[in-house]
Amino acid sequence: MSLVIVDDSLFNLDLLEAILQPLGRPIVRFRDPLAALDGIESLEPVLVVTDHLMPEMEGVELVRRLRSMPAVADVPVLMLTSADENAVRVTAFEVGVTDFATRPIDPIELRARARALMQLGIARNELRWQARMLAGEVQDTTANLATVLDSGPGTLSRFARDASGAWRPVWHSDNFSRLTGYTLAEASAPDFSQHTMRVDPYAGRAEALARSSAPGMASWDFDFRHKHGHWLRLGQNLRVVISGAYEEELVAYTYDFTAQYQAAKLIEAGKQRLDMLLSASPGALFQMELNESGAAAMVFMADAIVRVTGYRFDAMPGGCITTLYDEMSLARHADAIASARLRGEASYEAHLQHKDGRWIWADVRLSASEGPASMRITGYIADVTGERETRAELERTRTELKAVVEASPGALVTLLYGPSATDKAVLFASHGIARVTGYSAEECRDPAWFQSVVDPAYWRDMMETRWQLLQLRPAILQLPILHKSDGWRWVQLAFRPHERSADGKVLVFGYMTDITEQKAQDARLAQTVKLATLGEMATSMAHELNQPLTIISFAAQNLFNAYNQDEQARPRLDRIIAQAHRASKLIDHLRVFGRAQDSAPSAVHWQDALAGAMLLAGAKLRMAGITPDVRVPDDLPPVQGHLVLLEQVLLNVINNACDAYQLATPPVPGADRTLVIAAEAMTGAIRMTVADRAGGIPPAAMERVFEPFFTTKAASQGTGLGLSFSYGVIADMKGSMTVRNAGGGAEFEIILPIATLPIFTESQ
Ligand code: ADP
Repeated sequence: MSLVIVDDSLFNLDLLEAILQPLGRPIVRFRDPLAALDGIESLEPVLVVTDHLMPEMEGVELVRRLRSMPAVADVPVLMLTSADENAVRVTAFEVGVTDFATRPIDPIELRARARALMQLGIARNELRWQARMLAGEVQDTTANLATVLDSGPGTLSRFARDASGAWRPVWHSDNFSRLTGYTLAEASAPDFSQHTMRVDPYAGRAEALARSSAPGMASWDFDFRHKHGHWLRLGQNLRVVISGAYEEELVAYTYDFTAQYQAAKLIEAGKQRLDMLLSASPGALFQMELNESGAAAMVFMADAIVRVTGYRFDAMPGGCITTLYDEMSLARHADAIASARLRGEASYEAHLQHKDGRWIWADVRLSASEGPASMRITGYIADVTGERETRAELERTRTELKAVVEASPGALVTLLYGPSATDKAVLFASHGIARVTGYSAEECRDPAWFQSVVDPAYWRDMMETRWQLLQLRPAILQLPILHKSDGWRWVQLAFRPHERSADGKVLVFGYMTDITEQKAQDARLAQTVKLATLGEMATSMAHELNQPLTIISFAAQNLFNAYNQDEQARPRLDRIIAQAHRASKLIDHLRVFGRAQDSAPSAVHWQDALAGAMLLAGAKLRMAGITPDVRVPDDLPPVQGHLVLLEQVLLNVINNACDAYQLATPPVPGADRTLVIAAEAMTGAIRMTVADRAGGIPPAAMERVFEPFFTTKAASQGTGLGLSFSYGVIADMKGSMTVRNAGGGAEFEIILPIATLPIFTESQ
């Protein structure tokens, strides 16, 4: 920052130095202009003072050269000229001399001019220095900007107007491809916006552009289809600037805010849903603030509180909802607040008085959170009076239903059938099932239980029923099951399929009843009809057969009388007579069976009939190791019937019991081989039972034992007529004969009306 003086005269140099010394700058002197040119750049001069006429180089030439050197091109130059050198001044100005001083030198003027010029030089030096600094900063900033742009979320673009005046991109920062998937060339296509931007892309942008001329900036956003096909939400900041070439240029910063946009949309949708829920929900939201001592102050109450209490919040008596509460609810409220403070959540039911005077029930839920200054409780209160009533009603109905179910003679079961054959669950069995089956409801819940008590002959029916239910068709099943303690019993199951779930399972409701009695009655009715028909047939057949048989008998007797001396004929005739006699006895049996009783009934004592039968059966019983246990009271009134026939009936039944003991598998141990024969008087009738313990009658046979010719015994042992005959005899005497399985064997029951006729005795 020095003053440079160039003059070929030493005297002049000394003089100039003396004049300029007071300006306070170091002074560098050159006698040779060429030497000055060599050294001047490193001196950073603030002023050059030079003579014009110098032998090595003229001042004008020196200045021309200085002006071509960048470091000193604009340094002020003061040239000394004499009065006659005016012509030189013009040339000197042209080459860039800043000012002149005329010789002879006026020291004061020279110094003044030099000072002014020197200040100009200093200012210029500073400017240059600042410019250099700025250039450096610009360079740095540009480099930084590039880094920021390429690592940041957005991309910078420049647009220029094309011939038609439309903006066309001329440059994108590197990020553009990353953001959009397109290259600059692709983005320059005239229809680029049309197929990448959703909705009318121009309305928003045009409006933004209108606001974007420098110094304004405008933003807009739009849906943009990425080259890979997915949609982005892009935001764009636009600014129109005047470029160095005095042309309009559009600078755009484009950034991706898809994630934020979607989040904002979700939040918006959530808020709308919440609003909807709140406006549709029957209750009201509220917020309370708790102070240190735990007192609560309501800070917000939704308008919906009108729907619950009838009051607007600001018009609530006492300014608080709890003034509507009863004692109990107040206590609950306090407890709930305390427990919400502790556990974060609490709820209670409040009983409160509505504006219209009704007492209603409200469900109150509290949830506590730490507020900015104190604890805050957000709550929800809703009228649940209706629900409570419904619930109570439901409870009543349920209790009644339960009572009905328990009181009903049958049992309710709920089953769940799955598509595979073994897939069955018993969801519910009412206690009535114990009455029907002897097993407890818990035992019946075992899916395998039912099959274990059903007569296997009916498994097929069960499978069919199951199939029908899986088709959602109702079904009724009647089958014998083995009661836990009471032998075989008939049950009816009425099933109603309810619904099929997604996995193919069918929910079924069933009602199980004991139909043993009904079944027995049905069987008796059927039997009666069947036996009546068969009886008539048997009677007419007996009648038809009787005549030829009598003729055969008589003829055989006559032949026997005539040929009883003939050794060969006699035994043969004897056999004919014996067989004819047997045949006629059989026909008699058939006649009895057909109720062809000719003799009139009389009063008969049961004891007498039993005594006769025991007389005949005694030996057989003894042989079979059976102990008869007779429990017949002596004072039993007589019944109305035929003594001999009754005897036969009892004999048949006792015989069957003997056979049953002999055929039983596994054999019945001797100690259990009893035969209980009992009789008792009922109103107007005598009931007699004969019960063995030989295993009972299989269900399939049960229905048929009274059928004529039904037998389970070998052909040599049974005819199948004993019970059918007995049944006919008893029916003929206006009585009834039934059988059931009980106490581990078969129990025959015979009921006969008490006699109103004179007593018949054997002596008659
Ligand atoms: P039969 O004795 O000739 O077979 P019935 O008419 O007397 O003819 O009996 C018919 C069937 O009833 C018998 O074959 C037997 O299967 C059955 N039955 C009768 N009584 C009993 C009993 N006490 N225990 C078991 N089964 C019996």
